[in-house]
Amino acid sequence: AFAATDEAELLDYRQAHFAANLKLSYRQPVMFVRGWKHHLFDQWGRPYLDAYNNVPHVGHAHPRIRAVAASQLARMNANTRYLHPAQRAFAQKLISKMPAGLEVCFFVNSGSEANELALRLARAASGGYDIVTPDHGYHGNTTGATAISAYKFNKPGMGGRQPWVHLVDVADDYRGRFRADDPACGERYAAQVDDALEEIAAGGGLLAGFIGEVFPSVAGQIIPPAGYLASVYARIRSAGGICIADEVQTGLGRLGDAYFAFEQQGVVPDIVVLGKPIGNGHPLGVVITTREIADRFAQGAEFFSTFGGSNLSCLIGKEVLDIVDDEGLQQNAAIVGNRLLSGLRALQDRHACIGEVRGFGLFTGVDLVEDRDSRAPATAIADHAINRLREMRILIGREGPADNVLKIRPPLTIDAEGVDTICAALDTALAEIQP
Ligand code: PMP
Repeated sequence: AFAATDEAELLDYRQAHFAANLKLSYRQPVMFVRGWKHHLFDQWGRPYLDAYNNVPHVGHAHPRIRAVAASQLARMNANTRYLHPAQRAFAQKLISKMPAGLEVCFFVNSGSEANELALRLARAASGGYDIVTPDHGYHGNTTGATAISAYKFNKPGMGGRQPWVHLVDVADDYRGRFRADDPACGERYAAQVDDALEEIAAGGGLLAGFIGEVFPSVAGQIIPPAGYLASVYARIRSAGGICIADEVQTGLGRLGDAYFAFEQQGVVPDIVVLGKPIGNGHPLGVVITTREIADRFAQGAEFFSTFGGSNLSCLIGKEVLDIVDDEGLQQNAAIVGNRLLSGLRALQDRHACIGEVRGFGLFTGVDLVEDRDSRAPATAIADHAINRLREMRILIGREGPADNVLKIRPPLTIDAEGVDTICAALDTALAEIQP
């Protein structure tokens, strides 16, 4: 339906009618008009390998999603004030994936909204207000979600940290204060929660809880040391706080060996937040909690979201979860993710700028360094790599406080050929800059 469109014209229009902080990816922006599985096609029909986008969890343009959406839109689309079987079906499927006790669902329209709601639930259940959260976190673009997102509020002009927000280090055992060679590293990071709790008490505050991305993504695709979250949760709970797991980036099978990242950390959160992939492109956020927490929250005003939990949203969410199971995508993430990790680790032997390759399933980071001893972040090399891969028609991104960690996070449909293509292209791009 789209004729080849003049990119310069679209760029001019953007500049005139959108804010400058609405960013485009890549030095040379790219336009896509179609997608299929882990591929995107530009206006000339040229294919790109999508190794970046996690929203199209079960693949771009999945025919089953299109079919349920078209069929429901041809009937009706109403809200949660009326009964509809899709609401139960989606909730049942979600709850079947959760540990026992996490059994009450709230449906909203985005990860930001879901995190806002999680904060309200934690405050209602605990009676406290203050939040402990790791540095460099990201939880969304709304006022409350930005306030708990150090990645945003610490940027110039963003107003800084609210007095009710208490930061601990992100548990990065490669470049953080405590490192993987220290067997007590996870425990040392977790012990920082005690300092945060003291800070709250000293300021006359009261703890509501802890929120964290279970595997922090914008902080640089971090996999916390074993035992870290269990120790954090124990400290938070003994101080009367609620533990919130933001699984927006990590949930729904991406990790291969775990359906949720909290399983890998051996914990059961009090509140789980889901977003992005759960709608495969349809705006959808979910909060799942215990009966007890939901009941405390229900003592307040009615909870209503006009679009959250619509018939259409519930059908799409349920379909996404079914497709992950029916197509064995979690198993694929494990197999193909391991192949990607081995491929990247083989590159590490040839390229001194690869300081660390880390990952779990299809949640992958390549930490680029100026030299392996100092671990100084190689931001310029990362910039070169993602832009060169874009020229080779492969989409990846970069993250981390210094923007030096390559982020590879494809739809779960990616195959062996796809990950081998990424490794070969990266080999070429890195050789160009550091022969
Ligand atoms: N939490 C995490 C971990 C995220 O990565 C994001 C989005 N990148 C959000 C929350 C916010 O989700 P949304 O953009 O749908 O509001």
